Order: sequence, then structure tokens, then C-alpha cells
Amino acid sequence: MNITPLDILNRYYGYTNFRKGQEDIINSIINNNDVLAIMPTGGGKSICYQIPAMVLEGITIVVSPLISLMKDQVDTLKVMGIEAEYINSSLSNSEYEKVLNNIKNDKCKILYVAPERLDSSDFLTVIYDKVVCQVAIDEAHCVSQWGHDFRVSYKKIPYFINNLRNRPIVTAFTATASDEVRKDIVEVLNLNNPKVFISGFDRENLSINIIKSPAKNKYLLDYVKNHENECGIIYASTRKEVENIHDGLLKRGYLVSKYHAGLSNETRKENQEKFINDDIKIMVATNAFGMGIDKPNIRWVIHYNMPQSIENYYQEIGRAGRDGEESECILLFAPQDVHTQKYLVEASIENPQRKIAKYTKLQQMVDLIYTSDCYRKCILDYFGETMEDECNNCSNCLNDGEVVDKTLDAMMVISCIARMKRSYGITMIVDVLRGSKNKKVLELEFDKLSTYGLMKKYSSEDLKNFINTLVSHGFLDIVENLGHRGTFPTIKLNEQSMRVIKKEIKVELKEAKASKSKYVENELYEELVSLRSNIARE
Ligand code: ADP
Ligand code: MG
Repeated sequence: MNITPLDILNRYYGYTNFRKGQEDIINSIINNNDVLAIMPTGGGKSICYQIPAMVLEGITIVVSPLISLMKDQVDTLKVMGIEAEYINSSLSNSEYEKVLNNIKNDKCKILYVAPERLDSSDFLTVIYDKVVCQVAIDEAHCVSQWGHDFRVSYKKIPYFINNLRNRPIVTAFTATASDEVRKDIVEVLNLNNPKVFISGFDRENLSINIIKSPAKNKYLLDYVKNHENECGIIYASTRKEVENIHDGLLKRGYLVSKYHAGLSNETRKENQEKFINDDIKIMVATNAFGMGIDKPNIRWVIHYNMPQSIENYYQEIGRAGRDGEESECILLFAPQDVHTQKYLVEASIENPQRKIAKYTKLQQMVDLIYTSDCYRKCILDYFGETMEDECNNCSNCLNDGEVVDKTLDAMMVISCIARMKRSYGITMIVDVLRGSKNKKVLELEFDKLSTYGLMKKYSSEDLKNFINTLVSHGFLDIVENLGHRGTFPTIKLNEQSMRVIKKEIKVELKEAKASKSKYVENELYEELVSLRSNIARE
């Protein structure tokens, strides 16, 4: 009798059930289809190409950029009794020879290869003589210039495949779901009529909390104090911010380390290992940290700043709770974060089209933050998956605030924008409505009397939040404009705005209950504040 994928899962891996999506993907591959599988970080992609490797005749080659993790993966497979090897720059000459010999003698079923090695002539001589049944490309978004981890060496993959004796099944795996990246993967890798799977995005054990508060330090310090025995990651958007948070926690005696692109390769590797081995509990990092990390017991992920996109956000929180246990994800948001992210886009991207694409992603992230809907539902919608169960695990659903009629306030904002002679950014609109004495505002040409200072009762932060909320609910539009110093966003009226003005529709928004303040003052907070201002002065 034939052994089924489920048998293999039980027997070799010791797991009882497949996770959502895994079995369909595996069956498609075994039935000779190219596959593009999009599954979140921690969703269980490896099994999807490893099980077919055991069923199909011939060798499966896994292309992966994660050299530091190959050895672990191969060792695990070997322990399970599967003939596996890897080829990357960490092998000595004699080890490399040994691997080549094993391939020659049909003693290798799964071979992990770093993409840089795909054109090494001695490897090619050996592999061209063999039947390769599957080429699995892990972290496949690395082929795309649109992705955040573009690798030139991934361009070698199609040449490598074309020169094999037979056309293998080509399978691609990634956690990145954007359309551009998806198209690039199919095109660059020449996938042949691939079956596309998007699954497993719902991680029920992760609670998703977005906290709009300027008192981030307080919150953070209070949180780590109350979770001292758990492992967690703090993501911040700049190296400097990482250093500040790290130093503040270290000074307080926490077991903490850091990771960002400004540290040497060795230091990064060392710090990562300390975290994986539980020698330290807290990792403070930029988004450079985490690809491919499979640490089961990460109990919380705190975003100290807003990430660049929903993909980035989901990938980063996906590192929590891989063991299936309840884990907490907390995004601390302040409107200033949007500016920081915009600054980072401006500083790092030249191409105007790519810039606009980045801004769109940023806006989608902002929309998520301001939504009063279920966060989980919005995220799943974004990835093209539908939510099956009720959510009782996100701060919007748990904190179900009152619905408040904000039509009047919305009308004030809309009529202000309507009376301005051309379109402006959010700051200018806020300044006009709050009656700012700013020279720029006083020089404006518009019908001042009717809306100038009309919304003084709002603080400028609250008013900004309110306008952003109107945008995220579709009552206003944000458009990106191309200027001589890059792109800038302005607010525009749309059909919905007109309907509000005509009193055809109401603006009803859910207001979060006044957040239960659980912060405690402590001396660490003061320390961190003074530390930060010192560094800022340097
Ligand atoms: P990804 O590559 O998608 O980030 P991995 O393949 O590294 O995820 O898998 C993440 C974790 O989930 C691993 O520890 C893996 O052993 C585990 N896992 C995968 N599939 C299952 C399953 N069906 N049942 C239980 N655990 C699983
Ligand atoms: Mg993986």
C-alpha cells in the first residue's frame, strides 16, 4: 500500500494533523504541478516541499538564502532518517567533496543550496547527471525587486533549472503576498501554470493589539516588567531607536540584546544565537531581524513604531507563538511614526513609481491602525483570506467601544477642505480648523470666516487622528502628488464627502473606551527619557 502524506507527517515529523493549506499544496506538487504557496511566517512551509521530496523519485533541491539556518534544517532531517545535505559557503573543501559524493551515489534526497552556489562548476557537473524532481525556492520574494529582500543571486535560478536534464517541478514559497511580488515570482522563475495557494494567515493564538498613545516608553517598560520571564521581540524602525531602547533596558538589568544592519555580521549572528538559545530574553531590533527564525517560545512582539506595510507587520508578529501557545502582539502607535516611515521611504527610494507603491502600502497600514473594525478580519481581507471564526482576540473586538455620531465634526472638516483654493496636506487643514496663527495659514486664500478656528476644541493630535479616521473610512481621500522634492500626500474630497455634506449619510465611528491606564511611573522611565534626550543632543 502507498504511504500517504499524512502517514509521513505522523511517522517522520510526529505531528497529528496538517495545518490549513499544507495538504493541498503537497498533493498538488506530488501530482506534478508547479506551485506558488503564500503562507505566513511560521505557517509551516518547509513541510510542504519536504514531504513531496520524500514521495517523488529523484532529488529535491531547496534554494534558500538563509545560510545560517541550513545546517539546523538538514540536521533535523537527518535525525528523522532522511538523507539530506547542504551546500553553502560555510562548508570546508573536504565537506563539500563529501556532499558531492553523496549526491553522486544517490545518498541525498533533499539538498539545500545557497543561491550563490547555483553556478559552481563542480556542483553542476554532478547535478546535471542526476534526476532532479523538484526545485523548491524558499523565501521566493527574494527574486523580486519589489520585495524587501531582493537578492541578485536569485536570478541564477531559472538558468540553473533550464540546464537540468529534465524540467523539474518548480515550487515557490513566501510569506509576502503583494501582487507585484507574486507576479515577479511567477515570471522570473518561469513557473509553469502554477497552482497558487494563499493560506494559514489566521493565527488564532496571536492577540492583536494596537495602542494609540504617545506614552510609549511607559507602556513598554511596564510591559517588560510584567513579563520578565518570557521571551519577546521589540521592533523599532531606526537603528538609533533600537540602540536607545536596548541601552535603557540593559541599564535596568534585563537580559536584552540588539540586532540591526549597523552591527557586524559576527555580532548579529552572536546576538541572534543568544536569543534563540534563551541566553537573553528580549531582542530589540529593526526589521532586519527575524527572517527564517524558528524559535517556538516567543510570547510577545512589541512594535515600538508603525511598520512600513501590513506584510511587514504580519511577518514580524508571525514570529510569536510558533508553539501554538497564546502570544501577545502590541503595536504602539503615535502619528509621528507616519512621518518617520515617510522619511525612510524618501531617503531610501529613488524610483518615483516604487515610491508611490511604498506610500500606498504605508497608507494601508495607517488605515489598519485607524480602523474600528476587527483587526484580524482586516488583515485576513488584505491577504485575500476570509475569516471563519468569530474574533475574540484583537483590541478592537475586545474593547468594543461606543458608536458615536461624528457627522457634524466631519462636515466641518469637509467644508474647510472645500473652501480651500487647492488641495493641502493634513497639517495645513488641522492648522486652519484650529485657527493657527502660523504665517503660512494666515497667508492662505480662502473663505476664512466660515471654518477658521472652528475646531479649536480638538487638540491638533486628536484632529489629525480624526481626519485620518475619516480617510480610513472612505469619507475623504488621500492622494500622493509628485513634487520636485519627492512625493507628498494631500487630502481630497470624494463622493462620500459630498454625501455627508448633503446629509445623505451619517458618519458613525466606534470610539475606543478610554484606555484603562495600567502604566506605572518608575525610575527606569525617567532614565530612558533622559538617555534618549542625551543621545538626541549628541
Ligand atoms: P515557515 O517556513 O512557514 O515560517 P516552518 O516550516 O519553519 O514555517 O514551520 C514552523 C513551525 O511549525 C515548525 O516548528 C514546524 O515544525 C511546525 N509545523 C509545521 N507544520 C506543522 C503541523 N502540521 N503540525 C504541527 N506543527 C507544524
Ligand atoms: Mg521557512
